[in-house]
Amino acid sequence: MNKFTYVSVNSTDAAIRELDEHDSPKYIAGGTNLLDLMKISVESPDHLIDITHLAFHSIEDTNNGGLRLGALVTNADTAWNEKVEERYPLLSKAILAGASPQLRNMATNGGNLMQRTRCYYFYDKATPCNKREPGSGCSAVNGYNRIHAILGTSEQCIATHPSDMCVALAALGATVNITGKNGDWSIPFADFHRLPGDRPDLDNTLDAGDIITSVDLPNEGFAENFEYLKVRERASYAFALVSVAVGLKMDGNVITEARLALGGVAHKPWRSIEAEAALTNQVALTENFKKAAEIALEGAKGFGDNTFKIDLAKRAIVRALLKAAKLEEQA
Ligand SMILES: Cc1cc2nc3c(=O)[nH]c(=O)nc-3n(C[C@H](O)[C@H](O)[C@H](O)COP(=O)(O)OP(=O)(O)OC[C@H]3O[C@@H](n4cnc5c(N)ncnc54)[C@H](O)[C@@H]3O)c2cc1C
Ligand code: SF4
Repeated sequence: MNKFTYVSVNSTDAAIRELDEHDSPKYIAGGTNLLDLMKISVESPDHLIDITHLAFHSIEDTNNGGLRLGALVTNADTAWNEKVEERYPLLSKAILAGASPQLRNMATNGGNLMQRTRCYYFYDKATPCNKREPGSGCSAVNGYNRIHAILGTSEQCIATHPSDMCVALAALGATVNITGKNGDWSIPFADFHRLPGDRPDLDNTLDAGDIITSVDLPNEGFAENFEYLKVRERASYAFALVSVAVGLKMDGNVITEARLALGGVAHKPWRSIEAEAALTNQVALTENFKKAAEIALEGAKGFGDNTFKIDLAKRAIVRALLKAAKLEEQA
């Protein structure tokens, strides 16, 4: 690990002021991702700005009937919050599918959005990686790519975003609230993370030094009909090969509104508006779910070791929809 200095700040102004005094400063919250990356010198900040004393520790109702999740609330406190459990059980379930209880006790909501890819080559400094070192090449495209993306990839990078929480936030249509050198601003969740294109080193649309202050959930939480299905190598403590977040509004057996997002398949949580449209006003039937799954995976491309994910994702979508609609598998 490289040498660095450390300061703990009590205001966003102080946090932002610290940025100007150092070459490569970095905010630290729970530290569960950043410290791992620092230990192997993938991240080498010269100054850590501890933001855990900023005032973003609450979960509060918003004026439009939604809920505001403070960026510094831990993943555990978010998942077990009474209002989240009752009104957004999809989010609770997604968070609890991630990491381990110990990690969720440290990991914060803001940090979860900002966590970096788990591509093995990104973590291995002996190999080329455009995300870690722009222009050096991508070891995964022609390498071992079992965990990599099948949608929205570029020649430069086929990494996935590893978060579970973010897949639910994408399906729910959350908004990210931010403060920074240019003041306060908000961005729809769908636009927060980026596809790799020719800048895979950029994971999201934040400007340098921006701080996530909170995440807003809209008033509709799909609490009656929802599912978060995570397919992984082992039952716990593993990242998703493929995950599916589903929220449905039902009128009898007819779907009046659908939300569908995938994890483990792209550089960002992948919401499929097209599949949602195909499900809307349809009867909840396996046949219709299969059609929606085909639509969601349209344009998917495998790279060899990860090609199995295309069929896996389709099957996971059908299963998640059956569970959300409270139906058994139909013949
Ligand atoms: C062994 C292991 C298994 C895991 N398994 C899963 C899993 O299955 N599913 C899953 O979703 N996650 C998993 N995680 C990831 C974990 O959820 C993240 O490490 C965690 O959410 C990061 O939050 P943090 O507060 O610790 O962030 P930190 O490590 O403190 O920070 C991460 C990054 O976010 C930036 N940052 C933090 N807060 C803010 C803010 N408010 N504004 C701007 N920038 C900020 C930091 O500068 C840093 O770049 C796993 C982690 C480990 C170590
Ligand atoms: S997939 Fe992306 S993160 Fe992985 S080696 Fe290629 S450029 Fe790096």
